[in-house]
Amino acid sequence: MRVAVIGAGVVGALLARELCRYEAEVLLFEREADVGWGVTKANSGIVHAGFHDRPGTACARFCVSGNALFPEVCRELDVPFRPTGAYVVALSFRERAVLDELRAQGEENRVPGLAIVAGDEVLSREPNVNPEVAAALWAPTVGITEPWALAIAAVENACANGLELHLAEEIVGIEVARGRVRTAVTSRGRYPVDAVVNAAGLFADQVAAMAGLAELRLVPRRGEYVLLDKAAGGLVRSVLFPVPSPRSKGILVLPTVDGGVLLGPTAEDLPSAAKGAMETTAGGIAAVLAGARRLVPRVDPALAIKAFAGLRPEPPGSDFVVGETPVRGFYQAAGMRSPGLTAAPAVARWLAVEIAADLALPPKGSVNPIRRGIPRTADLAPEEWEALIARDPRYGRVVCQCNHVTEGEIVEAIRRGARTLDGIKFRTRAGFGRCQGAFCTDRILQVLARELGTRPEEIGARGPSAPLVVGRVRP
Ligand SMILES: Cc1cc2nc3c(=O)[nH]c(=O)nc-3n(C[C@H](O)[C@H](O)[C@H](O)COP(=O)(O)OP(=O)(O)OC[C@H]3O[C@@H](n4cnc5c(N)ncnc54)[C@H](O)[C@@H]3O)c2cc1C
Repeated sequence: MRVAVIGAGVVGALLARELCRYEAEVLLFEREADVGWGVTKANSGIVHAGFHDRPGTACARFCVSGNALFPEVCRELDVPFRPTGAYVVALSFRERAVLDELRAQGEENRVPGLAIVAGDEVLSREPNVNPEVAAALWAPTVGITEPWALAIAAVENACANGLELHLAEEIVGIEVARGRVRTAVTSRGRYPVDAVVNAAGLFADQVAAMAGLAELRLVPRRGEYVLLDKAAGGLVRSVLFPVPSPRSKGILVLPTVDGGVLLGPTAEDLPSAAKGAMETTAGGIAAVLAGARRLVPRVDPALAIKAFAGLRPEPPGSDFVVGETPVRGFYQAAGMRSPGLTAAPAVARWLAVEIAADLALPPKGSVNPIRRGIPRTADLAPEEWEALIARDPRYGRVVCQCNHVTEGEIVEAIRRGARTLDGIKFRTRAGFGRCQGAFCTDRILQVLARELGTRPEEIGARGPSAPLVVGRVRP
């Protein structure tokens, strides 16, 4: 039996990993040159608890079950996960009333450990919170992670268990005959299939239409962010939410797993054709800073090192579209709006079980669920670093000064599949720090060119079609 998964975001990646637990030929198609470059690369990275979601929805169900799976999945895949907990901060008596509603909603969704705490208690744990805090909802099961790292790790692990990965290969058609999916047509060929899973993120509506399901329409909802340098690292320990609006969870202040602070996102609905509108705007950034300073007045914009935007794939009815469809063999994990990252491990596990049952796939005799990450010299004790250098001196040559990434780490990322600057950045954090690549881009390009036996002109941030170097100024 052959199962094709469309889209190597966090959802498709984890699903491919789950499907590789069964006796089947699993193919993962991604039109980009690497894994995790869609919605997965630009979001808040929060493992939500599930109190924001309407009871009875797929969002609520998979968020709570995904949250419970996260620590185990991240442990198996060696991906950063920090259980920070979160406060929803009420700054007035009127906002205080919303906390009770959120807690009741969370309890209906079976979110563990929710508690309303007094303003003083919040300030004792988070001294930089607005001193006007009246009370907060404390959610101990909230955490933070690195979403793209999870997608990369899941694909690596799936490949070790038999996945056939097709990068830079776009699905351009899906052939259906007598109500059943038959063939996945790509930019490179035709693949007879027994099942197809649509995990195409923002473009899942276009993929659904290929299978004749035209009713799914996804609206891009832009979220703009500001990232603060590690110098702001001590500002907050937990994820801080404002009281939510009916449309969004609001503008947050949260730590990142590598020690920075993230502010945002906004929530702006764009026309459905604007699925590439990743630019930030002056208005958006001003709204992010104002919202963040309302929660944490000491937020210092001078520490900003990057502004960026992500697009949420907003489905009709604001709920995930997950499971089988009227076309037999065609499944969806679509409309994966927030909390789609949190839900991903649970959606993946549930869908894989459904598909395996429908196709009568037996479990594989043996599967290795463990994947080890690239050693991070920044996190090693001096004697561990020395031992690594003794094995491979390239671990002693620091290329990215801001995030302390060595040539050894970059070479290992290339060995694992990085072919572009972004591929290195998302695997090692080189270029992600204070200088945003100003000092290390050139050296990374040289290592990439050397290891791949090519020239820097052939390597781009996201592939050879957008090179960073156009030629030599001297022969
Ligand atoms: C601003 C913002 C904040 C968010 N914050 C959070 C949060 O804190 N916590 C949380 O749980 N969730 C959050 N989310 C939601 C979360 O990011 C998404 O649910 C999740 O990343 C979706 O992953 P995905 O795999 O479905 O989509 P994607 O990552 O977009 O993956 C889909 C892939 O399909 C590929 N593709 C598309 N069309 C084709 C085709 N025809 N052929 C081949 N490949 C194709 C794309 O290139 C892409 O790589 C947020 C989202 C945004 C935008």
